[in-house]
Amino acid sequence: MRPIAVYVHIPFCTVKCGYCDFNAYAGMDNLKFDYGRALVSEIDALGDLLEGRVVSTIGFGGGTPGEIPAGTIGSVIAALRQRAPLAPRAEVSLELNPGTTSEDAIRDLRAFGVTRLSIGAQSFNPAELRFLDRIHSVEATVASVRMARRAGFESVGLDLIYGLPGQSRANWAASLAAATALGPDHVSTYALTVEDGTMLARRVARGEVEPLDADAVADLYDLATEVLEAAGYEQYELSNWARPGHQSRHNRTYWTDGEYLAIGAGAHGYHNGERYENIAHPRSYIAAVEAGSSPPFVALANRYAPDCATSMSDWLALRLRLIEGFTPVEFAGRFGVRLPPAVTGVLEECRSAGVIEYTAERVRLSRSGRLLHGEVASRLLLACRQSAADGGN
Ligand code: SF4
Repeated sequence: MRPIAVYVHIPFCTVKCGYCDFNAYAGMDNLKFDYGRALVSEIDALGDLLEGRVVSTIGFGGGTPGEIPAGTIGSVIAALRQRAPLAPRAEVSLELNPGTTSEDAIRDLRAFGVTRLSIGAQSFNPAELRFLDRIHSVEATVASVRMARRAGFESVGLDLIYGLPGQSRANWAASLAAATALGPDHVSTYALTVEDGTMLARRVARGEVEPLDADAVADLYDLATEVLEAAGYEQYELSNWARPGHQSRHNRTYWTDGEYLAIGAGAHGYHNGERYENIAHPRSYIAAVEAGSSPPFVALANRYAPDCATSMSDWLALRLRLIEGFTPVEFAGRFGVRLPPAVTGVLEECRSAGVIEYTAERVRLSRSGRLLHGEVASRLLLACRQSAADGGN
């Protein structure tokens, strides 16, 4: 049976953080019950798509999945298991925020089959947490990690944000040290970005907040690499470090062109060569699922098959997020053609500039090139389009 991953989006949060542009909503607790029922109905409607498949991983993301009753998470896992078997040692991961999920709920999540928790620590500095609008304390993060371990979770990750306005190396080093002292199995670090339409963007526009300059952000990234490597974590993706055996298999599906079904408001899926996206607003999503028209995709907002140039550039950009990179043979296996000359030209230029390196048969970003992934991805997209316009040459 062919493996497939499943992403489940839980869009609820206690507070909408000022920097956040995710499909996440505060003040909608009254929808949680109906939303849980809609998730199960959507899985029922997807039925045939799961026929003959084995679910390799399930990822609950958000929003804050830890803020929905654990029983709802259990119902979703049970509904999926009714439709398709879970692979042996399937990874079932869930994001939670410190201080908003009780110890009993964490135990229940473990009992319902969740295998891995990602805890949104973000910072171990109280002033930074306040700047980010996070409602938890440093103590709550510590308590969440301990509760997860007591509940029997063998894979616990911490998410951190760096590059805050005015953030010093010393403050970032202190957060990294506090994080590693808790012994997580996985650490994700994300640079704070100013996204259009957010409260943070408005504060920046009004001159109330001055973003950290790019060189300082790059310096903090390098510091994370040094500290986490020294603490025994292996970087396997641009923003992710893990102890052996603890890489996120669910997220690897995204980076390696694997198929995944999307469940929930605003969730994105990739199936049978098509990308699709559900209706974003939770209330509209619930209404669409209840109406149940057009199964298997009963909450569809958008579905399209990327053209070949987009598929190739997406594939290359995602593979280059992985520290291992890719081989030209893997590319040929996926697309049935060799790397187009326009692409090899870009890769060669990047190699000359020290951004890309070739190791044995692999192509990957160099250590210093990891900060330039976005630039490389843009150039590869242009090269793929140029190649398509030239008839594939
Ligand atoms: S808790 Fe996470 S998903 Fe929710 S608003 Fe804050 S950053 Fe966004």
